[in-house]
Amino acid sequence: MFSKLSISLDIPDVQVLDIKMNKKGDYIITVESTLASTTCHRCGREINKFHSHDRAITLRHLPILGHQVYIRLRPKRYECPFCSDKKHRKISTQQLSWYDSKSGHTKAYEEQVLLQLVNSTIQDMAIKENLGYEAVVGIINRYVATQVDWGLFDRFEVVGLDEIALKKGRSDYVVIVTARLKDGQVKVLAVLPNREKETVKAFLARMPTRLQRTIHTVCTDMWQAYINAVKEVLGSAVVVVDRYHVATKYRNCADKLRQQELKRLKTELSEDEYNTIKGAMWPYRKNRADLKPQEAELLDRLFAYAPSLKSAYDFREQLTAIFEKDLTKTQATQAIKKWRQEVETSQLTCFDPFLTTLDTYLNEITNYFLHRDSSGFVEGLNNKIKVLKRRCYGLLNLDHLFQRLFLDLEGYALFA
Ligand SMILES: [Zn+2]
Repeated sequence: MFSKLSISLDIPDVQVLDIKMNKKGDYIITVESTLASTTCHRCGREINKFHSHDRAITLRHLPILGHQVYIRLRPKRYECPFCSDKKHRKISTQQLSWYDSKSGHTKAYEEQVLLQLVNSTIQDMAIKENLGYEAVVGIINRYVATQVDWGLFDRFEVVGLDEIALKKGRSDYVVIVTARLKDGQVKVLAVLPNREKETVKAFLARMPTRLQRTIHTVCTDMWQAYINAVKEVLGSAVVVVDRYHVATKYRNCADKLRQQELKRLKTELSEDEYNTIKGAMWPYRKNRADLKPQEAELLDRLFAYAPSLKSAYDFREQLTAIFEKDLTKTQATQAIKKWRQEVETSQLTCFDPFLTTLDTYLNEITNYFLHRDSSGFVEGLNNKIKVLKRRCYGLLNLDHLFQRLFLDLEGYALFA
């Protein structure tokens, strides 16, 4: 039978002096550095004249078999022969690679916390790890910058401007600027405080010229300020309104009519009749091809009571089909114009707000057909942002928002 279990501490250049367990069941592991020199904080020279041990510090480390672990260490102090004189001795404390003297944790522990923060919340981490909220924020601040480092990039290819409303039902938007690199990676470049043209322009103008030149496409929502800002700063980049944003608009139009019609039917139909179309909302939102047979029947019953809904549904599906097709920009423009005309000559008015949008942004919308490959990502990012919003409700500090997005997108790659 084994009576001993050997576990690596994963801390370089130390030897263990003592292991104790306190009353709470935490391991307190006392270690000593095996390195015999340090760098003078004044002259930068390597010095090895031992002076003394500093007061003991305690650092939270990775858990062992479910127990919290604390590393206890008395840092070594060295005297610099070059900087000291008879009156004043210059003493430097030994710096070790596995902890930061400003932190109460080992780096290994902090990286584990960061990894667990991906798609989670600070509150969650604080509770699970029995850490203070501020301690978690401190860890994030030590590892995640609040601004992009341009030096890490060679090319951007596609840049996205996406907005999120930070408070429910209020129109204070922040703008998330991302780059989609050639290998499919998504990088957060900035979180801007509002969606005004001058704000977006100022950010784009701050980007180094060598990187500006590498942007061939900018994907945005339908918002004139973005389009103008991009044109003014990145003249040659093509602005694309992604089909995801377009689809949201026309699908909402069709959905509004569904709400109105169901309200009408509820008052006009008998209870028994109304019961036969209950639950029609989800099938109505699905594409024709995704309907199960009983859902298709349910929809047909609904459409028999409300023919205008069938018409709206069919128009919605026709437009989606256009975006699915492998068309050139010219072909797509023609197809969409034809669709527009048919909607206008129909009895429907639910698409009217969308038709106005279409007139304003047709060029940017059909630019989608120039670089179809640049799309799928937006949906992915939008979902990430939606989830982040739910988790970080009221996270109004833009620096924090930038850090959290950065962690969600890159945390696994960096800390796993
Ligand atoms: Zn010195």
